[in-house]
Amino acid sequence: MSAFIQQFPASTVLGYPRIGPRRELKRALEAYWDGRATRAELDQAGAEIREHTWRRLAELGLEGLPSNTFSLYDQVLDTAVLLGAVPARYRDAADPYFAMARGTDGLAPLRMTKWFDTNYHYIVPEIGPETVFKLDAAKPLAEVRQARALGYETRPVVVGPVTFLLLGSALDRLDEALACYEELLSALATEGVAWVQLDEPALVGDRTPEELAAVRTAYERLGALGPRPALFVASYFGDLGESLPALAATPVEAVGIDLVRGGVPGVDLSGKTVVAGVVSGRDVWRTSPERALAALGAVRAGQVVVSTSCSLQHVPYSVADEPDLAPELRERLAFAEEKVAEVVALARADFRGSVPAGPSVALPAPVVAEERAPYAVRAAAQAAHLRLPTLPTTTIGSFPQTGELRAARAAVTAGTLTREEYEHRVEAEIERAIRLQERLGLDVLVHGEPERNDMVQYFAEHLDGFAVTRNGWVQSYGSRCTRPPILHGDVSRPGPITVRWSTYAQSLTDRPVKGMLTGPVTIVAWSFVRDDLPLRDVVFQVADAVREEVRDLEAAGLSIVQVDEPALRELLPLRRAAQDDYLEWAVAAYRRATSGASDRTQIHTHLCYSDADQILAAIDGLDADVTTIESARSGARILGTVQAFGRGLGPGVYDIHSPRVPGVEEVEELLRGAVAALPAERVWVNPDCGLKTRTYEQVEAALANVVSATRRIRAELDA
Ligand code: GLN
Ligand code: ZN
Repeated sequence: MSAFIQQFPASTVLGYPRIGPRRELKRALEAYWDGRATRAELDQAGAEIREHTWRRLAELGLEGLPSNTFSLYDQVLDTAVLLGAVPARYRDAADPYFAMARGTDGLAPLRMTKWFDTNYHYIVPEIGPETVFKLDAAKPLAEVRQARALGYETRPVVVGPVTFLLLGSALDRLDEALACYEELLSALATEGVAWVQLDEPALVGDRTPEELAAVRTAYERLGALGPRPALFVASYFGDLGESLPALAATPVEAVGIDLVRGGVPGVDLSGKTVVAGVVSGRDVWRTSPERALAALGAVRAGQVVVSTSCSLQHVPYSVADEPDLAPELRERLAFAEEKVAEVVALARADFRGSVPAGPSVALPAPVVAEERAPYAVRAAAQAAHLRLPTLPTTTIGSFPQTGELRAARAAVTAGTLTREEYEHRVEAEIERAIRLQERLGLDVLVHGEPERNDMVQYFAEHLDGFAVTRNGWVQSYGSRCTRPPILHGDVSRPGPITVRWSTYAQSLTDRPVKGMLTGPVTIVAWSFVRDDLPLRDVVFQVADAVREEVRDLEAAGLSIVQVDEPALRELLPLRRAAQDDYLEWAVAAYRRATSGASDRTQIHTHLCYSDADQILAAIDGLDADVTTIESARSGARILGTVQAFGRGLGPGVYDIHSPRVPGVEEVEELLRGAVAALPAERVWVNPDCGLKTRTYEQVEAALANVVSATRRIRAELDA
């Protein structure tokens, strides 16, 4: 350990957006992937984004600048590379990093899933018996050096050992991983780095005694190393709970605590620096200075540093880029830049001696049960009406979004294309999708969602109580960004939203077309939401609007309506104690949205992930007639857990996250797995998710194989 520990700077942020204020990283990545740019050009784009970030943070007056918060794809994948956890099959790829992230012609990518309760997706580390941990510190060292050349001393940020191993289900490899972390700390010390940030968000979840022991082992051991930088262990997204005393007992110099989601700790931390997350990294609202100062004043620690509750990667760059928002709303908003300014202002204010504010208690509204007829009754009514074959084939809703359509939408906004002309083009695109699906021989068709920029934003634009931004992009995964709407007032539906497109699609074909809606939980989960009402009340307001839309679709003649709820698990509280209550109201909101449908109308839902085991009962509780769910991407592991599921189920047979086209045999094998796990009459055949990120060429080839495989298995079953 160095003889002298440098004081932690008075203000910092745990991380920063990295896609670039104008999504420069997205463009650079896509150019590189398409062969339009070299790796050197991509790296240059990354270097410019980092430089821009450090300059901006310094200009805003922030004292503690982080580094290594940039990533070309994902910080967990970066950590896997840092530790040498690159599976052997990717090593010979032209670019192993992107091969792991996105797959290649011959290789499926690594699994991807949501980062705790956010809408950011990370790459799941694959750690097996053959994994040999071996440090490759090139990236963090290069970032430290780049910043230093610009005149900035930075604090490298790395995912911590416990979280990394838990994400890779390999905590038993702690010893070997720690050897790498030790080597990293030594290398950083040699580089003259004063502080390092180890992110341990996994510590805000329920942890077993063994896992808590691992926390102690890890930080005892890293703490004992000498010489090393001072250690800052950052937690976020909730309370540290029993992990806090475990951490506090180790020699780490600083602990990061989320004081927005969690409370002021009762533990005395007078021997430590507390990096106090009082400015939320998860919402877009201005921080109440009174509340923040009160929280800061209540922390008992050797030093209190003002910070954000988590990385700012979850919010857009700047409110200054939003000239179209109403002034009354703008005044209430703070994006990354404005939040940095708040951190700086709070650090300059004197918060010692502030009085903590009492907790505000909101009374939950009663949960209303929503019932349709029992499934068997509905299934019979639907079968008679729809007359679908065994193993009906369908898709999840979206078809490829073409550049022309996006350009047309931009032209309408810019006033260079009339709304009428735009709507003609949308209709033409719907017709193209319908004809393609008929040609391919799919059984339940979709209109393809060409009118939607995004499955949440589109609804937000058509509901009262929401605002949409012009530049408010946040990274979802890799080069993919979303622009979450801002739900700022009471929600209501001024008129039908999707009915004209769905009825147009249905008018073109004799096969059933599914109406396509986004569910209330997902609309709320993928928006920035007002914080002056309990979340459940906000979700119920949205559910009522969706319910009206379901009724209108049904009245317009649609026999099937899908209400997507891919974010159901995302809002699940990280601590078990709070989960049941959440699931109860989330399920009730879904039923509120869908239970106005008659028995004959088939309700579908869709979920985009496979490790749904823990909420399988809740999915069952949604009471949808058919549930489509991601499966192909994760090796059909879901099939082991679905026997208890009593209604229609479509485990995905085509991983749409990768440009790869699955072969007929591959799909057949997945289908065989599905009919082995479930009664065939309840199995549906569909891709893992919507097709909007794929090209028509890929989709046509893949769906043709899906249909061929289905016909083969269907013939065997019907024989
Ligand atoms: N219906 C949507 C689509 O197909 C669902 C997308 C999702 O689940 N994220 O695009
Ligand atoms: Zn999906």
